[in-house]
Amino acid sequence: MDECIFCKIVEGKIPASVVYEGETVLAFEDIQPTAPVHVILVPKRHVGSMMDMGDGQRELAADIMEAAVKVARLKGVDETGFRLVINCGPDGGQLVGHLHMHLLGGRKLTDGMG
Ligand code: 5GP
Ligand code: ZN
Repeated sequence: MDECIFCKIVEGKIPASVVYEGETVLAFEDIQPTAPVHVILVPKRHVGSMMDMGDGQRELAADIMEAAVKVARLKGVDETGFRLVINCGPDGGQLVGHLHMHLLGGRKLTDGMG
């Protein structure tokens, strides 16, 4: 997608601090972290939101989950714990229209669930 920030990061057209790269998933540091560990995981091919993760996306969904486990180890929060968040649509607070999962950790996450 031409105007998608995360597609541009995947294509290397916008710089990002990459934490992990797999066949289908890229993980990079959030530009405005809200926790000591704040990594964004995205499918490398454009998927707009969670609502586009319908039939036939099981493998990709599993890839993202597996990547999150790898990132948790790489960032050293596998023992201390972390939170995974996927925002979807306006009420969910999704600002970037390319499906992404936040991995947050490195402090006790005391915030509520909204
Ligand atoms: P959302 O609110 O859509 O779930 O979260 C989007 C996240 O992407 C935000 O945490 C924001 O800081 C991050 N973000 C937005 N633009 C960029 C960018 O150009 N580079 C990186 N690394 N993160 C970004
Ligand atoms: Zn995209």
